[in-house]
Amino acid sequence: MSAPVVGVLALQGDVREHMAALERVGARGVPVRRPVELAGLDGLVLPGGESTAMSKLAVAFDLLEPLREQVHSGLPAYGSCAGMIMLADRVLDGHPDQRTVGGIDMTVRRNAFGRQVDSFEADLECAGLDGDRLLHAVFIRAPWVESVGDRVRVLAAAPVTGAADRIVAVRQGALLATSFHPELTGDDRVHAYFVQIVRGVPDLP
Ligand code: GLN
Repeated sequence: MSAPVVGVLALQGDVREHMAALERVGARGVPVRRPVELAGLDGLVLPGGESTAMSKLAVAFDLLEPLREQVHSGLPAYGSCAGMIMLADRVLDGHPDQRTVGGIDMTVRRNAFGRQVDSFEADLECAGLDGDRLLHAVFIRAPWVESVGDRVRVLAAAPVTGAADRIVAVRQGALLATSFHPELTGDDRVHAYFVQIVRGVPDLP
């Protein structure tokens, strides 16, 4: 495959940062705002931002159903933070009318790390990435993954003071999600991993 074409849902959120990261790992990023722009994509990124706003705009732009169709019929997708929420089958602490694209059999809790630690950074072990150095992860009003189904592989967990670690990165087939924002750090290994998924490169055991 030459450079795969990866759409970035461009309704709201840090679209530019994802486009730049995709370009750096050899993909071509294209913004997606209208259903017609979903045609011919090899993959899709759902950016960080605010999942309640993203949900409203996706409904208003008639994009939610086309997104669901694409993702549920096998289009590889990667969601960071709000994008992770958009890929979750179930959301806790969401707005009552909040909708998701779904696809990953997981329950996520919005803004889960709490008010005192709205934003924090941590160095994590993350499975699937090139090299064995830790991944510097930036969390901004991040969700965590409360529970996952059998088909979901947990890639990373983050420490929580006085409690058990929480799941913050997962993969289910061609769907990938992180609670944190690799698009903001300049370490492009998560985007590189996603582009490998898009290219159909088999995962390490
Ligand atoms: N708290 C946001 C939400 O619910 C996510 C924050 C983010 O993407 N940085 O969508």
